[in-house]
Amino acid sequence: MATDPRSPTVTVGLQGSRCSGCSVTAYPAEDACPRCGGPADPEFLPGAGTLWTWTVQRYAPKSPPYQPPPGGFEPFALGYVELAEGVRVAAVLDVEDLDDIRIGMPLTVTAEHGVPRARPTSAGEEGS
Ligand SMILES: [Zn+2]
Repeated sequence: MATDPRSPTVTVGLQGSRCSGCSVTAYPAEDACPRCGGPADPEFLPGAGTLWTWTVQRYAPKSPPYQPPPGGFEPFALGYVELAEGVRVAAVLDVEDLDDIRIGMPLTVTAEHGVPRARPTSAGEEGS
């Protein structure tokens, strides 16, 4: 199983839901389908997707709920990741360099303490 070397306890993937009627996938999980209102069942999403759009947060968000890291605030990227299931997830983008971010780049999303985070998909993970 693939784990993030920086936080080995975090497993890849997201807990979403899928409509039993029209097959629409939602994240976060919902009891009712956002399209037809029918009942939705829990569905585990592998978290593989591509970057749909993004921006850079250049000032510290209001705290709480924002928890500044121990080293203090640093600008970070936020984006929407379009998962293979068609749902777009807002996530913090964990990249080494903000200049490396490209729309359409492959990303893997994990939910860490309920906050979705996306990191570039490594070559070995693609297609798995
Ligand atoms: Zn539906």
